[in-house]
Amino acid sequence: MFSSRQSALMAIAASALPGGSHACPANPDERFGCDVFHLEVMRKRLPRPVFVKLEKIIRNGEMLDPSIADTVANAMKDWAIEHGATHYTHWFQPMTGLTAEKHDAFWEYAGGRVISEFSGKRLISGEPDASSFPSGGLRSTFEARGYTAWDPSVPVFIAHGPKGSTLHIPCFFYSYSGEALDRKIPLLRSVNALSTQALRILRLFGNTTATRVSAMVGAEQEYFLVDRRLAALRPDLMLTGRTLLGAPSPKGQELGDHYFGAIPARVLAFMQDVEMRLEALGIPAKTRHNEVAPGQFELAPLFEEANIATDHNMLVMNILKDTAAAHGFLCLLHEKPFEGVNGSGKHNNWSLCDSNGNNLLNPGSTPQDNAQFLVFLAAVLRAVHLHADVLRLGTVGAGNDHRLGANEAPPAILSVYLGEQLTDVLDSLIGTATGPHDKRATIEIGVSTLPPLPVDLSDRNRTSPFAFTGNKFEFRAVGSSKSIAPVNIALNAAVAGALDDIATEMEASIAEGTSLNDTLKELLPRLFKEHLPIVFNGNGYSSAWPEEAARRGLPNYANTVTALEHYSDPSVMNVFLRHHVLTEREMLARQDILLDTYIKTIAIEGQVLSDMARATVLPAALKEQSEAAELALRVRSLGLEGDTPELARFNTLRSGTSGLAAALDALDAALAELSAIEDTPGKAHFAQGSLLSAMDTVRGFCDSLEKIVLRERWPLPTYADMMWSH
Ligand code: ADP
Ligand code: MG
Repeated sequence: MFSSRQSALMAIAASALPGGSHACPANPDERFGCDVFHLEVMRKRLPRPVFVKLEKIIRNGEMLDPSIADTVANAMKDWAIEHGATHYTHWFQPMTGLTAEKHDAFWEYAGGRVISEFSGKRLISGEPDASSFPSGGLRSTFEARGYTAWDPSVPVFIAHGPKGSTLHIPCFFYSYSGEALDRKIPLLRSVNALSTQALRILRLFGNTTATRVSAMVGAEQEYFLVDRRLAALRPDLMLTGRTLLGAPSPKGQELGDHYFGAIPARVLAFMQDVEMRLEALGIPAKTRHNEVAPGQFELAPLFEEANIATDHNMLVMNILKDTAAAHGFLCLLHEKPFEGVNGSGKHNNWSLCDSNGNNLLNPGSTPQDNAQFLVFLAAVLRAVHLHADVLRLGTVGAGNDHRLGANEAPPAILSVYLGEQLTDVLDSLIGTATGPHDKRATIEIGVSTLPPLPVDLSDRNRTSPFAFTGNKFEFRAVGSSKSIAPVNIALNAAVAGALDDIATEMEASIAEGTSLNDTLKELLPRLFKEHLPIVFNGNGYSSAWPEEAARRGLPNYANTVTALEHYSDPSVMNVFLRHHVLTEREMLARQDILLDTYIKTIAIEGQVLSDMARATVLPAALKEQSEAAELALRVRSLGLEGDTPELARFNTLRSGTSGLAAALDALDAALAELSAIEDTPGKAHFAQGSLLSAMDTVRGFCDSLEKIVLRERWPLPTYADMMWSH
């Protein structure tokens, strides 16, 4: 049945070594964080003065002090070796969107012997040969070096391999001239900007004790699992992470019987292994369930500080892929692995928390708390309203383009869902409430007379890209395969800007002798009135919404290329420039890298599709056609003339194969044209337009042929095979 090549691919696919196979403590208490050099371990292992200094550095988001680096490094090394480590690596996040690592052994030669050695210098900074990472022109070829440096805000950890472990040091990655080559640096800059501006507001409300405000993030991660032996027979899945062709399964997600269904035992075993590994790394994996599409699942961790949550989500994605292999699955993080069923996203739950542990997006119970809540709410609305284009940039990617606006995922138009009750409150504040409304929603301004806001503000609306869910915002437009850093950088920077505007006005008004109450009485209605157009509680999937959104002046950047063109708009750049989150050069470099990645992604998909269709689909269909021709002839030789079903079958096959052959020629011509275009924006437009549509045409013919070619002859596992075999 299978060719020797196919058998080899399947055997290889099924033979993945279990990654990180080490004995985790069985007791969850002991297991949680057992592979992390966290504060408690530091306290035990470091001399007191060194620990105190380091803790302060971590708390304030500073760089490691060289005077304590050797002591810290040595303690880390001893701890790591006790945990089976032989190597260490600077672990960083270049602009590939993935994580990068290069392992070095702890061993050094000393007087003819090897000793274990790890100096503070090696902890603080590394210099990987980084010339092959995308830099968007930030590193010229003569100065191709990139540098890594430990980000002390994220603790080092151990990753276990089949035969030994490696100490991972989460690092920044920057160029010789100090520009960010990663997403961690701007993320930390954005967190700091947000903290500074939020503290100004807290001070105006008389809070003198909070020293920092953090962005808190919980990232729900969706993914698909496909049996590796089936995936091995699909070059599209192996090379691009999605099926470039494939007729729909006769049974898809119509019955809703997969969503929250009983988790198949084989999948559960995989999930449990994933969770053990995550727990060992101190990642609080809390929730697991079946998602809407068959073969689709979700993992949600508890929320953490944004920079930690971002690193943890990168680890979650790595561990999902790695553990899946050991369980005979291929884990697909792509946003749209299968046509016709839901794709995968990442819900970025976001809130603000002060250093005393108060969630600033929690309405609270006193009038004072409510007024403060309304100020932060106004800031978020202002940020999203004025800078929807900035936030849209955090969701770009070739994969997510299949999802956004596809009536299963939030639209590409950004709006905010607040729920009826909260919107009522705002309406009555502005004085635009119409007719009788919910009594609970009545509100008077003036801090002393503010009644409590309604308790349950967590209405649900699944079609909104940006929903207020009681005490946090849930940004649902993020792609499942992407780092959550860009979206949080954009959100933090935009909200920092809005808080800055608001704080500046409030400070000025109070300085002129206006009371806080009177300041808010004037300011809040004005702000809500200005920004109410961003609030939309209706159905984001309805066809009327894009028109309504256009009337409201909300941008609708339907795809990655259009969204990325606006990266260099002055109004977009200013959001990042204003609080030094990104420099102009860093932004232009990012725009260039993202466009380039987009073009290459589509070009690879086009090439893979061309190869598959030419070398597998077309020959199989032609063979079928040749058999059909023989049969039709034989039937005619029996004296049955005219439109026999045998002849009809031949004709269908023949029109399919001729159509496919012509479509393939057009696809190949489009691929050639793409590589001939010189300028990046021109290339991107061509890929997004002509190339994708040439691919669609090829796919159409392949999918029709798939439905009629003898199943045993069809060289690729079908949608039903892949989605319903867990
Ligand atoms: P759902 O969106 O499915 O209703 P939950 O409300 O339980 O689920 O939360 C989903 C995610 O939101 C989880 O990752 C959770 O930790 C995170 N989350 C909960 N509260 C906050 C918060 N205050 N800030 C940020 N994330 C939060
Ligand atoms: Mg959710």
